[in-house]
Amino acid sequence: MEEKKLITGGEFLIKDTDIADVFIPEELDEEQRMIGETCTDFLETEVFPVADRIDAQEEGLMRSLLEKSGELGLLGIAIPEEYEGFGQSFITTMYASEIMGSGYSFAVAYSCHTGIGTLPILYYGNEEQRAKYIPKLTTGEMVGAYCLTEPGAGSDANSGKTKAVLSEDGKHYIINGAKMWITNGGFADVMTVFAKIDNDRVLSAFILDRDMPGITFNPEEKKMGIKGSSTRQIFFNDVKVPVENQLGKRGEGFRIALNILHMGRIKLGANVIGSAKTAITQSVVYANERKQFNCHISEFGAIKHKLAEQVIRTFATECSVYRASQALDDAIAYYVAKGDDKGRNTMEAFNHFAIEAAVMKVYGSEALDYVVDEGVQIHGGMGFSAEMMIDRGYRDSRINRIFEGTNEINRLLLVDAVLKKGTKGVLPVMEEAEKAFEEVKSLNGSPAVAEGFIEEKMQYVANMKKVVLMLLKAVSEKFTRKLVQEQEILSNISDCIIQVYVAESVVLRLKKMETMKGEEETKLYRDMADVFVYDAASNVHKFALDATYSFAYGEVRELLEKGIAAYTTVAGVNVKEARRKIADRLIEENKYCY
Ligand SMILES: Cc1cc2nc3c(=O)[nH]c(=O)nc-3n(C[C@H](O)[C@H](O)[C@H](O)COP(=O)(O)OP(=O)(O)OC[C@H]3O[C@@H](n4cnc5c(N)ncnc54)[C@H](O)[C@@H]3O)c2cc1C
Repeated sequence: MEEKKLITGGEFLIKDTDIADVFIPEELDEEQRMIGETCTDFLETEVFPVADRIDAQEEGLMRSLLEKSGELGLLGIAIPEEYEGFGQSFITTMYASEIMGSGYSFAVAYSCHTGIGTLPILYYGNEEQRAKYIPKLTTGEMVGAYCLTEPGAGSDANSGKTKAVLSEDGKHYIINGAKMWITNGGFADVMTVFAKIDNDRVLSAFILDRDMPGITFNPEEKKMGIKGSSTRQIFFNDVKVPVENQLGKRGEGFRIALNILHMGRIKLGANVIGSAKTAITQSVVYANERKQFNCHISEFGAIKHKLAEQVIRTFATECSVYRASQALDDAIAYYVAKGDDKGRNTMEAFNHFAIEAAVMKVYGSEALDYVVDEGVQIHGGMGFSAEMMIDRGYRDSRINRIFEGTNEINRLLLVDAVLKKGTKGVLPVMEEAEKAFEEVKSLNGSPAVAEGFIEEKMQYVANMKKVVLMLLKAVSEKFTRKLVQEQEILSNISDCIIQVYVAESVVLRLKKMETMKGEEETKLYRDMADVFVYDAASNVHKFALDATYSFAYGEVRELLEKGIAAYTTVAGVNVKEARRKIADRLIEENKYCY
């Protein structure tokens, strides 16, 4: 059998992607759908009926829900069978995360437990550590938490002051310090705690049990949203941690923390899809019920615009998350086959996809914020009432732009990761940029447009990539080592990259759908691709010019202006009609249906 070609993280900027390398939700098989149904049933029977009690933080409720989900196997979807799990693919895990994502505060507890609460031990633990903790975390007998952030160390996580000192007999580390904003902190039994050994400059990681003497907890934080999710400050006062509880090697903590976060960011992208679909259903149900001026508000063009745009951004997030998940499943299989440390090799795969992970995190969280914000607007005054679930969705959404690395940090690291791959020779970014500059010099107007709907959209996306490459080269040459200080420009470029990846993911899904179902059945998806690519081109145009005018002069500026004008020109689209058609189907179905 021919070996599957491995996609490299960030490669999308310089290469086309084959639809064979892209997973789309239409390909979910029966087993995956059954897992999804079990998640839906769990939310409908166990979580939604007690949503208010969860938000009131009723004693013991969240923990008992996690235990119940464990009994159903829902905590073990990603866990290998030898640790009582189901050993499912990353795609399946993301599908479950998508559905569980609509579970408001429960989703946060669940996601924290199954992700950052469990995976550091699964992937970096030794045999004894895995055997001791993972089966119990899988069944829900134990709950996990991840303690990185400190009062003085948030985005700058490596600056934490929590300290570990080896005891005189060499049997324990004595840990002192404080951690802040710890999800599941109120009831977690096991915590991955990051601390510096002696005067190390980098973090190490340790597994701490809740009942170790010297650990104390502040009361629950009072929060704007996800009120039912437990969030605590935790103090470590001369906590004696057996040396066997060190996780990974000395000084490996920051790497562990970051790799787990890369995974968490893609997972966050999946979570927001579930929340967004729920908010869209709430929006359309309300719009179909509410009458003003003698008609349902869903008949108004302004409301249709909002509904359609909610759908398009959610759909676009979905296309991107499952595309990245396939690339990750392939990379995991490749790296795991390469060596004997399955856990570390799995994480190695995530490390390669830091760029895509940041794209999911930023685009997904901002798409959800848009969806819930317009959801509130569609509900009018009722949207402002705490009686409606959309109010909860709105408040709960906001955290997604803050945790798992703020969106500002993710935007910055995204460009940094691309440039590092260029410098290391993993991605020939500068070589491709040079070609783009040469092409622009001889360009007369915009490049000719390819024939065929998909081909045309693909070309538009390929054109936008050239804008990104030109900018990367121009800013690197202008600022060299001082580029890190140009955050506004880096954020502009980052926004261009995000638009490119997401737009391409939308077109790739459409292309694959058409091969599976034919053009007739996928007409409305053409409308989505039409609107999305048209908007993406306009967004890239604006971001790229903002960047250009912030640093470029003379010939470079002229070439950039010429390139941006040429490569972001797309054919006009009747966006009003396209959005109306998308909204009309939603209105007819009275629920999210794409
Ligand atoms: C509800 C909740 C749950 C959480 N759960 C956990 C958990 O389970 N475990 C855990 O370890 N942590 C957790 N966190 C912490 C979370 O990851 C941090 O809040 C986040 O990383 C931001 O850190 P900070 O709050 O200190 O903000 P800061 O780092 O102080 O940032 C403040 C602002 O400055 C910006 N900023 C900071 N540095 C830069 C820079 N270099 N360039 C440009 N802008 C910058 C930020 O983007 C932000 O807008 C949680 C937080 C919350 C609110």
